Amino acid sequence: MLRQKNILMAGLALLISSAPAYGARPNPQQALEAIKAGNGRYLSGNTTHFEVNKEKREISASDGQQPVAIVLGCSDSRVPVEMVFDQGLAEVFVVRVAGNVCGLSELASIEYGVKVLQIPLIIVLGHSDCGAVKAAVDSAVSGAVFPGHLPGLIHQMAPAVAAARRTHPDQKGNDLVHSAATSNIWLAASEIYGGSTIVKNAVFANKVKIVAAMRDLKSGKVTFLGEYPQPVTVVTPGRK
Ligand SMILES: [Zn+2]
Repeated sequence: MLRQKNILMAGLALLISSAPAYGARPNPQQALEAIKAGNGRYLSGNTTHFEVNKEKREISASDGQQPVAIVLGCSDSRVPVEMVFDQGLAEVFVVRVAGNVCGLSELASIEYGVKVLQIPLIIVLGHSDCGAVKAAVDSAVSGAVFPGHLPGLIHQMAPAVAAARRTHPDQKGNDLVHSAATSNIWLAASEIYGGSTIVKNAVFANKVKIVAAMRDLKSGKVTFLGEYPQPVTVVTPGRK
């Protein structure tokens, strides 16, 4: 019992010691605007963060990190998150996994970003021509079999593929892969929200936004698809 308590206290101390001393933090909307502006700089070639910044490295090492966003993205080497959003050291908290799926490890990483680092924005970033999504589509459509642990990854994306096939029964090939990739982004967003009390409470308190986004590989443009859950307008009966 005492040992368990000591482990708990040590864990808590570790979390607190890694938490940054907070200054002025952006709200979720401000964080989203900063990320959108970063993708704009990336598209125009007027990037600001590709140089090595010695001062930032030393400050972030001693004072901790204050990232503007958590990004759950795909491992695909053509979607380097910091470059896509023109962000520098300690500015984005990136969770990358093939197919940008949200399993327990990914969710725990996101919870750390929300609870400990108090990051105000979660972006699920999918992309066009995703090989992982294509594998999941091939598995569902033609029964393609994949080696190793890939079937486990494909299994996580299966509900998104099924939803895309239901919604677009006439689609095939690249069109179906694109629809499945879009469904897969929303699936991960719903799993982040639905699977974590920490995230859900932060969304309720307007401390965090979850945003779905899709990056086009050729143009580099990130299209923001909307928030999860969708904001609702409450209409009070009898009032205008
Ligand atoms: Zn991918």
